[in-house]
Amino acid sequence: MKKLFIPAGAERIIEKLKTNGHEAYIVGGCVRDALLGKAPYDYDITTSALPEEIKSIFEKTVDTGIAHGTVTVICDGVPYEVTTFRIDGEYQDSRHPVSVSFTKKVELDLARRDFTVNALCYNHESGIIDAFGGISDLENKIIRAVRDPELRFSEDALRVFRAIRFAAVLGFNIEDKTKRAIREYKTSLKNISVERIYIEWKKLLSGKWAYTVIEEYLDVITECIPELNGIKLPERVKFDALTAEERQIILFACVGDSKVYENAMCRLRVDNKTKDLGMTVINNLTLSDGMTEPELRLYLCNVADEAALTAARIAFALGRCSESVYERLKHLIEADTPRSIADLKIDGRELIDLGFRGERIGRMLKELLTLVAMGKIENEKHKLKEYAASAGK
Ligand code: ATP
Ligand code: MG
Repeated sequence: MKKLFIPAGAERIIEKLKTNGHEAYIVGGCVRDALLGKAPYDYDITTSALPEEIKSIFEKTVDTGIAHGTVTVICDGVPYEVTTFRIDGEYQDSRHPVSVSFTKKVELDLARRDFTVNALCYNHESGIIDAFGGISDLENKIIRAVRDPELRFSEDALRVFRAIRFAAVLGFNIEDKTKRAIREYKTSLKNISVERIYIEWKKLLSGKWAYTVIEEYLDVITECIPELNGIKLPERVKFDALTAEERQIILFACVGDSKVYENAMCRLRVDNKTKDLGMTVINNLTLSDGMTEPELRLYLCNVADEAALTAARIAFALGRCSESVYERLKHLIEADTPRSIADLKIDGRELIDLGFRGERIGRMLKELLTLVAMGKIENEKHKLKEYAASAGK
Protein backbone atom coordinates (compact mmCIF):
# COMPACT_ATOMS: atom_id res chain seq x y z
CA MET A 1 0.00 0.00 0.00
CA LYS A 2 1.31 3.41 -0.99
CA LYS A 3 2.11 5.60 2.01
CA LEU A 4 1.46 9.33 1.62
CA PHE A 5 2.92 12.06 3.78
CA ILE A 6 0.46 13.68 6.18
CA PRO A 7 1.66 16.69 8.19
CA ALA A 8 1.89 16.11 11.94
CA GLY A 9 -1.08 18.40 12.78
CA ALA A 10 -3.42 16.75 10.27
CA GLU A 11 -2.31 13.31 11.41
CA ARG A 12 -3.06 14.15 15.03
CA ILE A 13 -6.54 15.39 14.08
CA ILE A 14 -7.24 12.18 12.15
CA GLU A 15 -5.96 9.98 15.00
CA LYS A 16 -8.04 11.84 17.58
CA LEU A 17 -11.20 11.55 15.48
CA LYS A 18 -10.51 7.84 15.09
CA THR A 19 -9.95 7.18 18.82
CA ASN A 20 -13.31 8.87 19.35
CA GLY A 21 -14.92 6.30 17.08
CA HIS A 22 -15.11 8.28 13.81
CA GLU A 23 -13.65 7.82 10.34
CA ALA A 24 -11.30 10.54 9.07
CA TYR A 25 -9.15 11.12 5.98
CA ILE A 26 -7.22 13.81 4.16
CA VAL A 27 -9.21 14.58 1.03
CA GLY A 28 -9.33 16.40 -2.31
CA GLY A 29 -6.54 18.56 -3.70
CA CYS A 30 -3.95 17.51 -1.12
CA VAL A 31 -4.29 13.80 -2.00
CA ARG A 32 -4.17 14.62 -5.72
CA ASP A 33 -1.06 16.77 -5.31
CA ALA A 34 0.70 14.30 -3.01
CA LEU A 35 0.17 11.55 -5.61
CA LEU A 36 1.57 13.87 -8.29
CA GLY A 37 4.63 14.51 -6.14
CA LYS A 38 3.69 18.18 -5.68
CA ALA A 39 3.62 19.96 -2.33
CA PRO A 40 -0.08 20.39 -1.44
CA TYR A 41 -1.24 23.95 -0.81
CA ASP A 42 -3.22 22.93 2.28
CA TYR A 43 -4.71 19.81 3.82
CA ASP A 44 -8.47 19.30 4.13
CA ILE A 45 -9.92 16.58 6.32
CA THR A 46 -13.19 14.73 5.80
CA THR A 47 -14.81 12.81 8.65
CA SER A 48 -17.90 10.89 9.71
CA ALA A 49 -18.03 13.01 12.91
CA LEU A 50 -20.79 15.63 13.03
CA PRO A 51 -19.80 19.30 13.46
CA GLU A 52 -20.85 19.30 17.12
CA GLU A 53 -18.81 16.15 17.71
CA ILE A 54 -15.75 17.72 16.02
CA LYS A 55 -16.14 20.77 18.24
CA SER A 56 -16.40 18.71 21.41
CA ILE A 57 -13.26 16.69 20.58
CA PHE A 58 -10.89 19.61 19.86
CA GLU A 59 -9.94 22.49 22.06
CA LYS A 60 -9.49 25.20 19.46
CA THR A 61 -12.10 25.35 16.71
CA VAL A 62 -13.74 27.99 14.54
CA ASP A 63 -17.21 27.66 13.02
CA THR A 64 -16.25 28.17 9.39
CA GLY A 65 -19.34 26.82 7.70
CA ILE A 66 -21.28 24.86 10.27
CA ALA A 67 -24.36 24.63 8.03
CA HIS A 68 -22.24 22.84 5.40
CA GLY A 69 -20.45 20.76 8.02
CA THR A 70 -17.13 22.62 8.10
CA VAL A 71 -15.28 23.33 11.32
CA THR A 72 -11.75 24.72 11.35
CA VAL A 73 -9.55 22.91 13.84
CA ILE A 74 -6.39 24.71 14.88
CA CYS A 75 -3.49 22.41 15.61
CA ASP A 76 -0.09 23.88 16.56
CA GLY A 77 -1.32 27.21 15.20
CA VAL A 78 -2.13 25.71 11.77
CA PRO A 79 -5.79 25.77 10.69
CA TYR A 80 -7.27 22.62 9.14
CA GLU A 81 -10.74 22.52 7.60
CA VAL A 82 -12.53 19.47 8.93
CA THR A 83 -15.80 18.70 7.12
CA THR A 84 -18.42 16.11 7.89
CA PHE A 85 -19.14 13.53 5.11
CA ARG A 86 -21.81 15.32 3.17
CA ILE A 87 -24.42 14.79 0.48
CA ASP A 88 -25.57 17.89 -1.37
CA GLY A 89 -29.32 18.27 -1.83
CA GLU A 90 -31.07 19.82 -4.84
CA TYR A 91 -29.23 22.72 -6.46
CA GLN A 92 -30.67 26.16 -7.17
CA ASP A 93 -29.66 28.56 -9.98
CA SER A 94 -26.67 26.38 -11.01
CA ARG A 95 -24.74 27.30 -7.89
CA HIS A 96 -26.07 26.45 -4.42
CA PRO A 97 -27.41 23.24 -2.94
CA VAL A 98 -30.70 24.16 -1.23
CA SER A 99 -29.81 21.81 1.60
CA VAL A 100 -27.05 19.48 2.62
CA SER A 101 -27.30 16.33 4.67
CA PHE A 102 -24.64 14.43 6.53
CA THR A 103 -23.81 10.79 5.90
CA LYS A 104 -21.68 8.05 7.48
CA LYS A 105 -20.49 6.77 4.09
CA VAL A 106 -17.27 8.31 2.79
CA GLU A 107 -18.08 7.18 -0.79
CA LEU A 108 -21.16 9.43 -0.77
CA ASP A 109 -18.99 12.37 0.23
CA LEU A 110 -16.56 11.59 -2.60
CA ALA A 111 -19.52 11.41 -5.00
CA ARG A 112 -20.40 15.09 -4.45
CA ARG A 113 -16.90 16.24 -5.46
CA ASP A 114 -16.23 17.75 -8.87
CA PHE A 115 -13.58 15.69 -10.68
CA THR A 116 -12.31 12.16 -10.19
CA VAL A 117 -8.78 13.38 -9.42
CA ASN A 118 -10.27 15.52 -6.62
CA ALA A 119 -12.45 12.70 -5.29
CA LEU A 120 -9.71 10.80 -3.49
CA CYS A 121 -9.17 10.48 0.23
CA TYR A 122 -6.49 8.83 2.31
CA ASN A 123 -5.39 7.80 5.77
CA HIS A 124 -2.50 5.58 6.80
CA GLU A 125 -4.78 2.76 7.90
CA SER A 126 -7.11 2.48 4.89
CA GLY A 127 -4.76 3.80 2.20
CA ILE A 128 -6.35 5.63 -0.71
CA ILE A 129 -10.11 5.41 -1.21
CA ASP A 130 -10.76 5.81 -4.91
CA ALA A 131 -14.44 5.31 -5.67
CA PHE A 132 -14.46 6.97 -9.12
CA GLY A 133 -11.25 5.99 -10.86
CA GLY A 134 -9.28 9.06 -9.79
CA ILE A 135 -5.93 7.25 -9.62
CA SER A 136 -6.21 5.96 -13.16
CA ASP A 137 -7.24 9.44 -14.38
CA LEU A 138 -4.26 10.94 -12.56
CA GLU A 139 -1.97 8.46 -14.29
CA ASN A 140 -3.51 9.21 -17.67
CA LYS A 141 -3.65 12.94 -17.00
CA ILE A 142 -7.40 13.27 -17.43
CA ILE A 143 -9.93 15.68 -15.95
CA ARG A 144 -13.23 13.80 -15.75
CA ALA A 145 -16.36 14.83 -13.88
CA VAL A 146 -17.42 12.50 -11.08
CA ARG A 147 -20.46 10.63 -12.45
CA ASP A 148 -22.56 12.43 -15.12
CA PRO A 149 -20.85 15.66 -16.25
CA GLU A 150 -24.09 17.25 -17.47
CA LEU A 151 -25.76 16.69 -14.13
CA ARG A 152 -22.71 17.93 -12.24
CA PHE A 153 -22.38 21.10 -14.32
CA SER A 154 -26.09 21.78 -14.10
CA GLU A 155 -25.81 21.56 -10.30
CA ASP A 156 -22.92 24.01 -10.02
CA ALA A 157 -21.72 25.85 -13.12
CA LEU A 158 -18.49 26.94 -11.45
CA ARG A 159 -17.31 23.37 -12.11
CA VAL A 160 -17.20 24.27 -15.83
CA PHE A 161 -14.55 26.87 -15.09
CA ARG A 162 -12.78 24.66 -12.54
CA ALA A 163 -12.38 22.00 -15.20
CA ILE A 164 -10.37 24.30 -17.45
CA ARG A 165 -8.44 25.74 -14.49
CA PHE A 166 -7.29 22.25 -13.48
CA ALA A 167 -6.37 21.55 -17.12
CA ALA A 168 -4.23 24.72 -17.08
CA VAL A 169 -2.58 23.97 -13.75
CA LEU A 170 -2.06 20.22 -14.15
CA GLY A 171 -1.57 20.01 -17.93
CA PHE A 172 -4.31 17.36 -18.16
CA ASN A 173 -6.71 16.76 -21.03
CA ILE A 174 -10.41 17.05 -20.42
CA GLU A 175 -12.24 13.81 -21.11
CA ASP A 176 -14.59 13.96 -24.13
CA LYS A 177 -17.95 13.70 -22.36
CA THR A 178 -16.85 16.26 -19.77
CA LYS A 179 -15.61 18.50 -22.58
CA ARG A 180 -18.93 18.31 -24.42
CA ALA A 181 -20.77 19.16 -21.20
CA ILE A 182 -18.49 22.18 -20.72
CA ARG A 183 -19.68 23.53 -24.06
CA GLU A 184 -23.27 22.76 -23.23
CA TYR A 185 -23.23 24.41 -19.81
CA LYS A 186 -20.77 27.26 -20.31
CA THR A 187 -23.56 29.86 -20.55
CA SER A 188 -24.65 28.94 -17.00
CA LEU A 189 -21.42 30.55 -15.79
CA LYS A 190 -23.39 33.80 -15.80
CA ASN A 191 -25.11 32.59 -12.62
CA ILE A 192 -21.84 32.34 -10.73
CA SER A 193 -20.57 35.19 -8.57
CA VAL A 194 -17.67 37.15 -10.04
CA GLU A 195 -15.63 36.56 -6.89
CA ARG A 196 -15.75 32.77 -7.31
CA ILE A 197 -14.93 33.08 -11.01
CA TYR A 198 -12.00 35.40 -10.41
CA ILE A 199 -10.40 33.00 -7.89
CA GLU A 200 -10.45 30.25 -10.54
CA TRP A 201 -9.35 32.62 -13.33
CA LYS A 202 -6.27 33.69 -11.35
CA LYS A 203 -5.37 30.06 -10.72
CA LEU A 204 -5.90 29.31 -14.43
CA LEU A 205 -3.58 32.18 -15.37
CA SER A 206 -0.87 30.90 -13.06
CA GLY A 207 -0.99 27.44 -14.65
CA LYS A 208 1.98 26.14 -16.60
CA TRP A 209 -0.46 25.16 -19.38
CA ALA A 210 -2.47 28.40 -19.28
CA TYR A 211 -1.67 29.30 -22.89
CA THR A 212 -2.96 26.03 -24.34
CA VAL A 213 -6.11 26.25 -22.26
CA ILE A 214 -6.79 29.89 -23.18
CA GLU A 215 -6.33 28.95 -26.84
CA GLU A 216 -8.64 25.95 -26.69
CA TYR A 217 -11.26 27.29 -24.27
CA LEU A 218 -11.41 31.00 -25.07
CA ASP A 219 -15.12 30.53 -25.78
CA VAL A 220 -15.61 29.39 -22.18
CA ILE A 221 -13.48 32.16 -20.70
CA THR A 222 -15.32 34.82 -22.70
CA GLU A 223 -18.59 33.73 -21.08
CA CYS A 224 -17.12 35.36 -17.96
CA ILE A 225 -14.77 37.89 -19.57
CA PRO A 226 -16.45 38.86 -22.88
CA GLU A 227 -13.86 41.62 -23.41
CA LEU A 228 -11.37 38.95 -24.50
CA ASN A 229 -13.56 37.84 -27.39
CA GLY A 230 -11.59 37.45 -30.62
CA ILE A 231 -8.17 38.42 -29.26
CA LYS A 232 -5.03 37.34 -31.04
CA LEU A 233 -2.75 35.77 -28.48
CA PRO A 234 0.91 36.80 -28.15
CA GLU A 235 3.73 34.37 -28.85
CA ARG A 236 3.54 31.31 -26.60
CA VAL A 237 7.09 31.22 -25.18
CA LYS A 238 6.93 34.87 -24.31
CA PHE A 239 3.51 34.52 -22.66
CA ASP A 240 4.79 31.53 -20.68
CA ALA A 241 7.62 33.58 -19.20
CA LEU A 242 5.17 36.05 -17.61
CA THR A 243 3.65 35.95 -14.12
CA ALA A 244 -0.11 35.36 -13.70
CA GLU A 245 -0.66 39.08 -13.10
CA GLU A 246 1.33 40.02 -16.20
CA ARG A 247 -0.53 37.41 -18.24
CA GLN A 248 -3.82 39.04 -17.36
CA ILE A 249 -2.50 42.44 -18.39
CA ILE A 250 -1.07 41.21 -21.69
CA LEU A 251 -4.39 39.62 -22.67
CA PHE A 252 -6.07 43.00 -22.22
CA ALA A 253 -3.15 44.74 -23.93
CA CYS A 254 -4.02 42.53 -26.92
CA VAL A 255 -7.51 44.08 -26.78
CA GLY A 256 -5.71 47.40 -26.84
CA ASP A 257 -7.95 49.71 -24.82
CA SER A 258 -7.23 50.36 -21.13
CA LYS A 259 -10.87 51.43 -20.64
CA VAL A 260 -11.97 47.92 -21.59
CA TYR A 261 -9.53 46.51 -19.04
CA GLU A 262 -10.80 48.92 -16.39
CA ASN A 263 -14.41 47.97 -17.00
CA ALA A 264 -13.60 44.27 -16.83
CA MET A 265 -11.62 44.67 -13.60
CA CYS A 266 -14.45 46.69 -12.03
CA ARG A 267 -17.00 44.09 -13.03
CA LEU A 268 -14.83 41.29 -11.63
CA ARG A 269 -14.40 43.36 -8.41
CA VAL A 270 -10.63 43.17 -8.66
CA ASP A 271 -8.57 45.07 -6.07
CA ASN A 272 -7.45 48.60 -6.95
CA LYS A 273 -3.74 47.78 -6.95
CA THR A 274 -4.14 45.16 -9.69
CA LYS A 275 -6.50 47.41 -11.61
CA ASP A 276 -4.23 50.47 -11.43
CA LEU A 277 -1.10 48.55 -12.38
CA GLY A 278 -2.76 47.15 -15.49
CA MET A 279 -4.22 50.53 -16.47
CA THR A 280 -0.83 52.23 -16.20
CA VAL A 281 0.91 49.47 -18.13
CA ILE A 282 -1.62 49.35 -20.98
CA ASN A 283 -1.49 53.16 -21.28
CA ASN A 284 2.31 53.19 -21.34
CA LEU A 285 3.34 50.47 -23.76
CA THR A 286 5.29 53.09 -25.69
CA LEU A 287 8.69 51.58 -24.96
CA SER A 288 10.96 50.83 -27.90
CA ASP A 289 14.60 49.92 -28.55
CA GLY A 290 15.27 53.31 -30.06
CA MET A 291 14.63 55.19 -26.82
CA THR A 292 17.59 57.18 -25.57
CA GLU A 293 18.64 57.25 -21.95
CA PRO A 294 17.07 60.69 -21.32
CA GLU A 295 13.84 59.36 -22.86
CA LEU A 296 13.88 56.36 -20.54
CA ARG A 297 14.55 58.65 -17.56
CA LEU A 298 11.61 60.79 -18.58
CA TYR A 299 9.47 57.65 -18.91
CA LEU A 300 10.34 56.77 -15.30
CA CYS A 301 9.18 60.23 -14.20
CA ASN A 302 5.72 59.44 -15.54
CA VAL A 303 5.40 55.74 -14.77
CA ALA A 304 6.02 54.22 -11.32
CA ASP A 305 8.91 51.72 -11.08
CA GLU A 306 6.86 48.53 -10.83
CA ALA A 307 4.56 49.54 -13.67
CA ALA A 308 7.52 50.58 -15.82
CA LEU A 309 9.28 47.23 -15.39
CA THR A 310 6.02 45.36 -16.01
CA ALA A 311 5.41 47.44 -19.13
CA ALA A 312 8.91 46.56 -20.37
CA ARG A 313 8.28 42.84 -19.88
CA ILE A 314 4.93 43.07 -21.62
CA ALA A 315 6.22 45.22 -24.48
CA PHE A 316 8.92 42.58 -25.00
CA ALA A 317 6.35 39.76 -24.89
CA LEU A 318 4.31 41.63 -27.50
CA GLY A 319 7.40 41.88 -29.73
CA ARG A 320 7.53 45.67 -29.47
CA CYS A 321 11.05 45.87 -28.04
CA SER A 322 13.94 43.68 -26.98
CA GLU A 323 14.67 42.56 -23.42
CA SER A 324 17.38 45.19 -23.14
CA VAL A 325 14.76 47.90 -22.48
CA TYR A 326 13.82 46.11 -19.27
CA GLU A 327 17.48 45.86 -18.28
CA ARG A 328 18.09 49.53 -19.03
CA LEU A 329 15.08 50.62 -16.96
CA LYS A 330 16.14 48.34 -14.12
CA HIS A 331 19.62 49.80 -14.21
CA LEU A 332 18.27 53.37 -14.01
CA ILE A 333 16.02 52.44 -11.08
CA GLU A 334 18.88 50.74 -9.26
CA ALA A 335 21.06 53.78 -9.85
CA ASP A 336 18.23 55.77 -8.25
CA THR A 337 17.82 58.17 -11.14
CA PRO A 338 15.72 61.21 -10.09
CA ARG A 339 12.17 60.32 -11.14
CA SER A 340 9.83 62.03 -8.73
CA ILE A 341 9.55 65.54 -7.41
CA ALA A 342 10.71 64.29 -4.01
CA ASP A 343 14.05 63.33 -5.62
CA LEU A 344 14.78 66.94 -6.61
CA LYS A 345 17.33 68.82 -4.56
CA ILE A 346 14.86 71.68 -4.26
CA ASP A 347 11.42 71.77 -2.68
CA GLY A 348 8.25 73.84 -2.71
CA ARG A 349 9.32 75.94 0.25
CA GLU A 350 12.41 77.11 -1.55
CA LEU A 351 10.32 78.04 -4.57
CA ILE A 352 8.04 80.11 -2.30
CA ASP A 353 11.14 81.93 -1.08
CA LEU A 354 11.85 82.69 -4.72
CA GLY A 355 8.39 84.21 -5.10
CA PHE A 356 6.41 81.24 -6.50
CA ARG A 357 2.81 80.89 -5.37
CA GLY A 358 -0.12 78.49 -5.88
CA GLU A 359 -0.19 76.23 -8.94
CA ARG A 360 3.04 77.68 -10.26
CA ILE A 361 4.99 75.84 -7.55
CA GLY A 362 3.90 72.40 -8.71
CA ARG A 363 4.31 73.34 -12.35
CA MET A 364 7.88 74.53 -11.81
CA LEU A 365 8.81 71.40 -9.84
CA LYS A 366 7.49 69.27 -12.72
CA GLU A 367 9.42 71.31 -15.23
CA LEU A 368 12.61 70.96 -13.18
CA LEU A 369 12.15 67.21 -12.90
CA THR A 370 11.72 66.92 -16.67
CA LEU A 371 14.86 68.95 -17.26
CA VAL A 372 16.86 66.90 -14.76
CA ALA A 373 15.61 63.64 -16.27
CA MET A 374 16.55 64.81 -19.74
CA GLY A 375 20.02 65.78 -18.53
CA LYS A 376 19.48 69.45 -19.27
CA ILE A 377 20.12 70.58 -15.69
CA GLU A 378 22.11 68.87 -12.97
CA ASN A 379 20.19 67.93 -9.85
CA GLU A 380 22.01 70.43 -7.67
CA LYS A 381 20.30 72.95 -5.45
CA HIS A 382 21.96 76.12 -6.72
CA LYS A 383 21.46 75.17 -10.36
CA LEU A 384 17.79 74.37 -9.82
CA LYS A 385 17.31 77.62 -7.89
CA GLU A 386 19.08 79.58 -10.57
CA TYR A 387 16.85 78.12 -13.29
CA ALA A 388 13.66 78.65 -11.27
CA ALA A 389 14.63 82.23 -10.41
CA SER A 390 15.30 83.12 -14.02
CA ALA A 391 12.20 81.31 -15.31
CA GLY A 392 10.03 82.85 -12.60
CA LYS A 393 10.83 86.37 -13.61
P1 ATP B 1 -6.17 23.79 -4.99
O1 ATP B 1 -4.92 23.00 -4.93
O2 ATP B 1 -6.13 24.83 -6.05
O3 ATP B 1 -6.66 24.32 -3.68
P2 ATP B 1 -8.31 21.90 -4.67
O4 ATP B 1 -8.64 20.66 -5.44
O5 ATP B 1 -7.87 21.73 -3.27
O6 ATP B 1 -7.25 22.72 -5.51
P3 ATP B 1 -10.37 23.58 -3.62
O7 ATP B 1 -11.11 24.66 -4.30
O8 ATP B 1 -9.46 23.93 -2.50
O9 ATP B 1 -9.58 22.81 -4.76
O10 ATP B 1 -11.43 22.52 -3.13
C1 ATP B 1 -11.11 21.42 -2.30
C2 ATP B 1 -11.88 20.17 -2.74
O11 ATP B 1 -13.28 20.38 -2.59
C3 ATP B 1 -11.69 19.78 -4.19
O12 ATP B 1 -10.54 18.99 -4.39
C4 ATP B 1 -12.97 19.04 -4.49
O13 ATP B 1 -12.92 17.73 -4.00
C5 ATP B 1 -14.00 19.79 -3.68
N1 ATP B 1 -14.66 20.90 -4.41
C6 ATP B 1 -14.30 22.19 -4.43
N2 ATP B 1 -15.12 22.95 -5.16
C7 ATP B 1 -16.08 22.10 -5.63
C8 ATP B 1 -17.24 22.26 -6.43
N3 ATP B 1 -17.59 23.46 -6.91
N4 ATP B 1 -17.98 21.17 -6.68
C9 ATP B 1 -17.65 19.95 -6.19
N5 ATP B 1 -16.56 19.74 -5.43
C10 ATP B 1 -15.78 20.79 -5.14
MG1 MG C 1 -7.43 23.37 -1.85
